[in-house]
Amino acid sequence: MSYSSGRQFVQIPGPTNVPERVLRAIARPTIDHRSPEFGRLGLEVLEGMKEVFQTSGRVVILPCSGSGAWESALTNTLSPGDKILMFDIGQFSALWIQVAVKLGLDVEVDAAQNDWRHGVDPQVVEARLRDDRGHKIKAVGVVHNETSSGVTSMVGAVREAMDRAQHPALLLVDTISSLASIDFRHDEWGVDVAIGGSQKGLMLPPGLGFNAISDKALVASKSARLPKSYWDWQPMLAQNATGFFPYTPATNLLYGLRESLQMLLREEGLQNVFARHRRHGEATRRAARAWGLENVALNPKEYSSSVTAIYTPAGHSADELRKVILERFNMPLGSGLGKFQNKVFRVGHLGDFNDLMLAGTLSGVEMGLEIAGVPHRKGGVAAALDYLTESLKEAASMART
Ligand code: PLP
Repeated sequence: MSYSSGRQFVQIPGPTNVPERVLRAIARPTIDHRSPEFGRLGLEVLEGMKEVFQTSGRVVILPCSGSGAWESALTNTLSPGDKILMFDIGQFSALWIQVAVKLGLDVEVDAAQNDWRHGVDPQVVEARLRDDRGHKIKAVGVVHNETSSGVTSMVGAVREAMDRAQHPALLLVDTISSLASIDFRHDEWGVDVAIGGSQKGLMLPPGLGFNAISDKALVASKSARLPKSYWDWQPMLAQNATGFFPYTPATNLLYGLRESLQMLLREEGLQNVFARHRRHGEATRRAARAWGLENVALNPKEYSSSVTAIYTPAGHSADELRKVILERFNMPLGSGLGKFQNKVFRVGHLGDFNDLMLAGTLSGVEMGLEIAGVPHRKGGVAAALDYLTESLKEAASMART
């Protein structure tokens, strides 16, 4: 059969389902990027992105995937040989470390923290920075939501740890799979550079990267000596003041961004977006628990609201399970990455997503477990539906009182 009827459930943790409205916005004819109309579009989306990052500082929009935004954050703030403290807490953290090494930074990785089942430990950050009396460490790099493990690090607590150590290092945070799905507070948490991407909570296709920039990071960028040209913030910020870009921007993706910002900020509201993701994360974990399967994330305070990574029982291939689910139900799930390869599958529950889509997703997993012969208990879907229903009833009764 070359045709799969019905819609595909794309339940990888990004790229996420792009709403029809956003696709239609992207399909508009491309305009002159030097026209007044473009300047208005540029200013509007730059302002909107500040709200998403919860910052009154500067945001730049880069025509790249998240990896380009990683590189931009590092090259604009650091110089060759600078020391950066990073954490090997998952596949994306490990990849970001590799980028820093390739750029010629002196990367200090905490060797004790590498089971990929925990987030960055604020106490370790404090101890490392206290030990660094000469302030050799110029930056601390943290992945807010580790997409490979479904672990969300407590960035606010990391900032407090840095303050307790009275250390001047910059705080760089990857928000690629948390932005517009898990609460991220750039200004309140004293983040210096946040790194984002378009293809997850923002409900857009891949292709846009973001840096949110604090005043302190802006000052650092004036003396940062890592080579850069395309990524250089200075010409970008100068042109952005009037809504323009120093090179041809991704105009059609910016149309899409304007539409998704309208939906997230003006129609649903960011706090409601976060609450929706929290509910879906909780419902997914209840399903996994009822199936008797193990969550990768071990600390309940670090459970991710955007992705859940689940172990298959020892000796049972997670890749075979995903293959069965894809072939039978036309639903791609996230694979186990790095050391989780073939041991873990990931359910993405972020972006443009609702209760019935989650019910369909979990139903596909439960049927897949049965067909693939993975030992489990039945009742995961029922546990999730019970929670979704009860939480709606609770919300309705609270609204009445
Ligand atoms: N950081 C995180 C947390 C991610 O989830 C991803 C991709 O999924 C990346 C970085 C890399 O981004 P990209 O693949 O868009 O370059």
